[in-house]
Amino acid sequence: APTVLWFRRDLRLGDHPALAHAAEAGGDVLALFVLDPALLNPAGAARRDVLYRALASLDEALDGRLLVVKGDPVTAVPKVATAVGAEAVHASEDFGPYGRRRDEQVGERVDLVFTGSPYTVSPGRITKDDGDPFKVFTPFYRRWQEHGWRDPADTSASSASWIDPGDVSGGPRRVTVPSEKHHVDAEIGEKEALTAWKDFVDDRASGYGDERNRPDLDSTSRMSVYLKYGMIHPRTLLADLKGKAAEPYRRELCFRDFYADVLYQRPDSARENYDKRFDRIELDSGKHADELFDAWCEGRTGYPIVDAGMRQLVSENWMHNRVRMIVASFLVKDLHLPWWRGARFFLQHLMDGDIASNQHGWQWTAGTGTDASPYFRVFNPTTQGEKFDPQGDYVRRWVPELRGVEGKAVHALKDGRPEDYPEPIVDHKHEREEALRRFAAIKE
Ligand code: FAD
Repeated sequence: APTVLWFRRDLRLGDHPALAHAAEAGGDVLALFVLDPALLNPAGAARRDVLYRALASLDEALDGRLLVVKGDPVTAVPKVATAVGAEAVHASEDFGPYGRRRDEQVGERVDLVFTGSPYTVSPGRITKDDGDPFKVFTPFYRRWQEHGWRDPADTSASSASWIDPGDVSGGPRRVTVPSEKHHVDAEIGEKEALTAWKDFVDDRASGYGDERNRPDLDSTSRMSVYLKYGMIHPRTLLADLKGKAAEPYRRELCFRDFYADVLYQRPDSARENYDKRFDRIELDSGKHADELFDAWCEGRTGYPIVDAGMRQLVSENWMHNRVRMIVASFLVKDLHLPWWRGARFFLQHLMDGDIASNQHGWQWTAGTGTDASPYFRVFNPTTQGEKFDPQGDYVRRWVPELRGVEGKAVHALKDGRPEDYPEPIVDHKHEREEALRRFAAIKE
């Protein structure tokens, strides 16, 4: 009998265990994607652009045989299955709070078969000896490496005999892949992901361990956008990694699995403090707080590394990891604003915006998360800038007002600031004390 392969966050044909499983069933396979307004509307133009271009590329790799429909998957997927006479719908498992609810409902109407997931090791698999989930990264990492993972699955476009959606009648209306006016500055698609990965392995991987914290150097892999939509699978990356980069890179990929696991264990942590003690911490709101928030969003806080990061985010739809931590710390500990305001702004602009990595990256920085950076450790934006952007090149790239300031002086601006560059909106030393005072008030 025919089967349906329902694509979600796995927009590729290589290393695709669910494709292998669907093809093994023996019948012809219909490739399906459902444009779900519940996910598209909050995604922001950058992520919609990535999704649409990834779909166009997948459709091309399938010689135009990707069926794209629009609507609520809970009704659309069963209709498609009925229209092709499929006995089963195959998919990679989704572990986010929304995806789990959706899949439970779809599973009540069709035989939904999961094989693989977007993760190296799926959430829920790595536990302590007594079956409890880990709350701290390092022991999770140890256990994750002991657990191990499968080799990449050997799949491609020719793994299945694909059904032409033009031959299917009676299902939901087929739509063409939409497009966004806004284009993110990245090559999108499965082939493009593999090329970008190969460039990283050949040219930059050997320096990754030493240089990954340097936003002024293009030293990281920029795989996050491809991983987000499954244009590449982390196991493909792990199988390729050799030499000096292997350990530090594996560790970062494990962070991605760890945060997905934490969110799976605690779906409430997408919106609420993981550490409930912080529900009582004093946060600022009102008109002045809104003005500070706007200055942060627009990159005019008067702290050069913070402003550079926020301008990179809005202009490039990506930000270096070290700078994500610096700007997040600044929002929470210098401006005393709730982390979820910043997290929401990130999700609107990041092309790799991902609920698990983003919310937990924020909670970690805010000190409200798992093995959080302790709340009392407050990043100093000036010394962070001097340490990780030692010649000031990153700041000058993103803050044109400061291009006339040479070298690392661009961080402290001790000899004065150009007229068109703002004064600091807050005094870091003072706000640090204030953050510590507020924290002391909630500490048992
Ligand atoms: P590389 O250094 O090349 O790392 C390789 C891969 O490892 C990344 O692509 C990513 O999948 C994973 N990884 C690396 N660091 C982390 C981390 N700290 N947590 C989880 N996974 C990691 N990452 C996202 O993918 N989406 C987000 O929405 C997101 N929001 C973040 C928000 C904050 C406040 C912070 C501090 C971090 C956030 N991260 C997020 C993690 C990290 O910043 C990005 O994954 C990384 O900068 C992507 O660039 P890269 O692919 O060049 O990274």
